[in-house]
Amino acid sequence: MELWELSAYELSARIRNGELRAKDLVFSVLQRIREMEPLIHAYISLDEEGALRKAEEVDARVARGEKVGALAGVPVAVKDNICIKGGRTTCASKILENFVSPYDATVIEKLKAADVVLLGKTNLDEFAMGSSTENSYFGPTRNPHDQERVPGGSSGGSAAALAAGEAVLALGSDTGGSIRQPASFCGVVGLKPTYGRVSRYGLVAFASSLDQIGPMARNVRDTALLLKVISGYDPKDSTSAPVDVPDFTGVLDEGIEGIRIGLPREYFAEGLDDEVRERVMEAVDLLEGEGAEIVEVSLPHTKYAIATYYIIAPAEASSNLARYDGVKYGFRAEGEDLYQMYCNTRGQGFGEEVKRRIMLGTYTLSAGYYEAYYLKALKVRTLIKQDFDEAFKTCDLLATPTSPTVAFRLGEKVADPLTMYLSDVYTVSVNLAGLPGISVPCGSSDGLPVGLQLIGRPFDEETLLRVAYVVEGSLKGRSEP
Ligand code: GLN
Repeated sequence: MELWELSAYELSARIRNGELRAKDLVFSVLQRIREMEPLIHAYISLDEEGALRKAEEVDARVARGEKVGALAGVPVAVKDNICIKGGRTTCASKILENFVSPYDATVIEKLKAADVVLLGKTNLDEFAMGSSTENSYFGPTRNPHDQERVPGGSSGGSAAALAAGEAVLALGSDTGGSIRQPASFCGVVGLKPTYGRVSRYGLVAFASSLDQIGPMARNVRDTALLLKVISGYDPKDSTSAPVDVPDFTGVLDEGIEGIRIGLPREYFAEGLDDEVRERVMEAVDLLEGEGAEIVEVSLPHTKYAIATYYIIAPAEASSNLARYDGVKYGFRAEGEDLYQMYCNTRGQGFGEEVKRRIMLGTYTLSAGYYEAYYLKALKVRTLIKQDFDEAFKTCDLLATPTSPTVAFRLGEKVADPLTMYLSDVYTVSVNLAGLPGISVPCGSSDGLPVGLQLIGRPFDEETLLRVAYVVEGSLKGRSEP
């Protein structure tokens, strides 16, 4: 086995006890990146020098018998909408093509304190708007399981990097499914934490009431380890929650005897691919066999989720993206007066999907439409949240497909935004309600990965990880893509 194939928990243990040099691991991953990047294009930028320097530092400290961090020497890829000081943060947009971050995001400070090796920044849909990574100014990322297919999005670069062995761990961001759906399409694990669990400081804002940074990995234990490192209260994020950070790995071996798993009727209805349904139900049967109790529940407002999300997210985006005006950040296109400069900068700097969202959002926030659309959407958001509260009275977590289909073909949906938006049907409600959700691989269909989504009560990531760990363990070796 090559070093790049191993898990973060195994690698970090071997590095910390001096059995393995962090530098050899970085060499192995960089070599793999050189082989795979021409096919996959998971990265926007790489920091080979910085990665090697950090690995050498870790090795030197281990050799001197000094204490090193929890993930010492483990190579991590970071979605390119999270700021790393001194490096470019492009959000896959022309408007930020040459923007250099003046500070570290809080999650990056935490990763640095854990002594990880930061490899580089991964590709995404521009400003995280999309479900396929095709909306990147730098061109699409390809799915390592089938290069004619998309890796999902918007954290498609992070998911593909993991699946292709170009990183051991990765960070993504999830506003409406952007960690879970690409994880499902690429056959890796991705967790969207409860809103407030992980600091958003240094994450370029898309829709601030929905955005969360979360861990992505090739297995559940690594996901839990990374979640622990990046979680915690942060005074720099006003929506950060002052809650304790549990040891997310401690519960993995507890089993799932007596846990009640709800199946929301509305998530298994029309539009769900037959094979995806079969794989998900097989996983559910397996969980029942392991001692879980399966109950049917209803989330009656599910049918409004996509409409609600695609009003609230663009509304917040139109406001957040007003700051890119050619004055303070990045790209500027000159014009004869200030107004023309704004128009030219934004006209040339943003891609089509971003402009579409800004227009949608500006429309729903404008006088006369505000009550009819935006305010109405906020009310429905509350109803969607109440559906979950009701469901969690009879079960401990919910099991659903992550996405209605497996990875689709490049170009298949990009011309039809509505079809693209519909692929988020099982993930957006989780963000609207602020809940934690995980996608864990549960087999394949025609060689393409299928993901099982587990949705939990607020701040109960532990139960999600515990159940996901059982799914992973009992499916080991079965129908892997
Ligand atoms: N696909 C959804 C969108 O386009 C979600 C994106 C995300 O979670 N960042 O808005």
